[in-house]
Amino acid sequence: MKVTILGARGSMPVEGPEYTEFGGGTTCVLVETESQAIFVDAGTGIIKAPAIANKDISILLTHPHLDHLLGLPFFEVLRSKGKQINFYACVRDGKTAKEQIDGLFDVPYWPCKIENYPANITYHDLKLPTMIGDVKVEGIEAIHPGGSVVYKLSHEGKSIVMATDYEFDEEMSGDLVDFAKDTDLLLMDAQYTEEEYKERMGFGHSTLKQAMKVFKECNGKSVRFVHHDPFHNDEFLRNLEQPIKSTQIMFAREGEEIVL
Ligand SMILES: [Zn+2]
Ligand SMILES: [Zn+2]
Repeated sequence: MKVTILGARGSMPVEGPEYTEFGGGTTCVLVETESQAIFVDAGTGIIKAPAIANKDISILLTHPHLDHLLGLPFFEVLRSKGKQINFYACVRDGKTAKEQIDGLFDVPYWPCKIENYPANITYHDLKLPTMIGDVKVEGIEAIHPGGSVVYKLSHEGKSIVMATDYEFDEEMSGDLVDFAKDTDLLLMDAQYTEEEYKERMGFGHSTLKQAMKVFKECNGKSVRFVHHDPFHNDEFLRNLEQPIKSTQIMFAREGEEIVL
């Protein structure tokens, strides 16, 4: 599997010279096998998606918060006539996968309904576990306001676990540790510093210390911390990362490719 970090920013996109190293695009991770191209979330990172040829294209949504969908109206494939996109999301608050998207592409918030885009979209109300082509998809419910899914994608003995938008809980996070056991790559929410967390408890995101604890306990092979706070610039994130000194344990950088 090849994993490309297309966007690792949380909450809202940012740009400017102070955001060039870790990037400003919101959540989007591309997972590829020989036959599949699966975009986990469609934040603004998806706008920079590479051209995909001869693979099935899917979007797998963790949850419909805006920062995870904001790039969808500008996704190149959606604007390509005759292209097929499979869209997967769990039913949330009684809303089907299609209804979650329709809400975003509706007047007065957006002028063009999604069915008027040239691509052909098939909607799937996700029931886990399932297969997307040759990729096994499993999930557990995240600790996050309104809910979100932590996905595990597995292929040929390798796995990636994506725990973006996840608030660590001393008593309840054992299920995440079990779910991510021995994973090859954990993508883990580490939005806040310990100091910030005191003011933002219950917002649905973890600290670096909490993310490290999950990574160590699950015995994963590597971790990338994701959902960077929009106010944490390159220098700030480098300073947090500096004491760790491991190429296996890093903050996610937009554009990074990881081959598992
Ligand atoms: Zn988010
Ligand atoms: Zn969220």
